[in-house]
Amino acid sequence: MDYDENKIDDYTLALLYLVTHERHEGLGARAWKGFDWDTMNRLHEKGYISNPAGKTKSVAMTEEGFLRAREQFKQFFAKQTTVISLPKLTPDAKKRWNEVPEQARKDIIESVWCPHCKTGVPMELHDGKMERRLLVLRGTCKKCGGEVARVVEPEG
Ligand SMILES: [Zn+2]
Repeated sequence: MDYDENKIDDYTLALLYLVTHERHEGLGARAWKGFDWDTMNRLHEKGYISNPAGKTKSVAMTEEGFLRAREQFKQFFAKQTTVISLPKLTPDAKKRWNEVPEQARKDIIESVWCPHCKTGVPMELHDGKMERRLLVLRGTCKKCGGEVARVVEPEG
């Protein structure tokens, strides 16, 4: 198998952060070294860790190595906290919106006139409010990101 050694190095270095057991601010750290030998040698050549040869079970990380390890660890393994912005509807707008049958709601959201695209587009719903008896939905065009709005007429 052909593999990307640099990628292996990056992930190994990132995992070294996980097994760091001594941190000396500004001077690096020490980390357990039970990783692939060749990789550890490459990390040494890159200046991130001390020579991994020797009997000690841990290796010294340079300050540069430690900071990069921490950075990479965050990048590779941190849980993504995706911010899902729920549409904000005023209470009466929400009530009216919920009265619309689900399929009709989908149809409305999936085909909104976009003045920029000059066609019906799916809308990312952001907010809604009642204006007299009309439900006014505002959002953005999923194609161009421009602002779109849709008015839902009162029933009957
Ligand atoms: Zn558009």
